[in-house]
Amino acid sequence: MTARIIDGKAIAAELRGKVADAAHRLARDRGLVPGLAVVVVGSHPASEVYVGSKTRMALGSGMRSYDHRLPETASEAELLELVSRLNADPVVHGILVQLPLPAHIDTQKIVAAIDPRKDVDGFTPTNAGRLTTGLPALVPCTPLGCLILAKTIEPSLDGREAVVIGRSNIVGKPLVQLLLAENATVTIAHSRTRDLAGVCRRGDLVFAAVGRPEMVRGHWIKPGATVIDVGVNRVAAHGNSRTVGDVAFTEAREIAGAITPVPGGVGPMTIACLLANTVRAACALAGLPMPTFDDRRQAVDDG
Ligand code: NAP
Repeated sequence: MTARIIDGKAIAAELRGKVADAAHRLARDRGLVPGLAVVVVGSHPASEVYVGSKTRMALGSGMRSYDHRLPETASEAELLELVSRLNADPVVHGILVQLPLPAHIDTQKIVAAIDPRKDVDGFTPTNAGRLTTGLPALVPCTPLGCLILAKTIEPSLDGREAVVIGRSNIVGKPLVQLLLAENATVTIAHSRTRDLAGVCRRGDLVFAAVGRPEMVRGHWIKPGATVIDVGVNRVAAHGNSRTVGDVAFTEAREIAGAITPVPGGVGPMTIACLLANTVRAACALAGLPMPTFDDRRQAVDDG
């Protein structure tokens, strides 16, 4: 059996279309243009590409984008001061501080300084706590994208066995919360997990967020399972470099029922979910209901 390929690019384009429609309605009916501020400290080639795409897509979706670039040598106090200004700025509805930050800056302190209502990355302790306790929250973009992709294959996760490999605060842990909220039975694995292959084989759904090229082998996958590969790893190949995921794609696609490619799977969803969160934040700050961008629930929100 060859797995169905989950087309993250197409699904992300569809979500961006819904977000752009919502942004245009807000501008037309309320005179409200959602604004996203992106803060970059220093320069990382990968961050530059990512930040450039965010800015382009925000503008293309009818939003405003405000880029703030600080030198690598910027102090923690300067960054806190910028975050505080953005918190107070009424044209800014979403604030994203690009990570990683230089080592002399305390990342937790900066993230915690972001107004939770503008925290479109969903990384503040307030939003993490709200997600965990089942309150409405701005949810981290990559896990949200993973869930949307999985649900294109399995619309109901009720009682399904989900295995999440990786327990980072930005991917693994929030993803577990989203899956629990969908009534999946969740196992979270990490570097100390024993018999990772055996644990993985239990999953009707497997989410790999590890950062190790092609670690998850084909024989780790339960036949017919849905595999969502979050990993982005650059590897050398024939004098060039290419990007691979955390899953050995060629092997896994022979066993899985459906699988995301890398690139073209989770990556495009992350930016689409960021734009969706910016529109949600703009609505909430204006006292309007937060759109879900979920067709089945949208009708209720709009009505
Ligand atoms: P991270 O903070 O480094 O966390 C990696 C997790 O993998 C940790 O929980 C670690 O376990 C676990 N792990 C490491 N080696 C393992 C092993 N041999 N067996 C089992 N578990 C192992 O990484 P992250 O930020 O979550 O990112 C994970 C991957 O996703 C990276 O490739 C990153 O580039 C990618 N990513 C992609 C997007 C996107 O938009 N596509 C967004 C974010 C991240 P311990 O906790 O025990 O150390």
